[in-house]
Amino acid sequence: MKAPRIPMQELMGSGHLACQGCGATQAMRFALKALGPDTALVIPACCWSVID
Ligand code: SF4
Repeated sequence: MKAPRIPMQELMGSGHLACQGCGATQAMRFALKALGPDTALVIPACCWSVID
């Protein structure tokens, strides 16, 4: 059985304003890779709004 591949395409923009080392940035990065380029995000006012 083949292991699933992580897409090479980066959907998260560079230059986010999250704290350095923020784990949420990696979570967002991999979530977007899994969800694909047609994904729309609806985010309340919180740290996530400066991460994407
Ligand atoms: S979740 Fe928010 S406060 Fe916590 S490290 Fe990330 S950006 Fe900073």
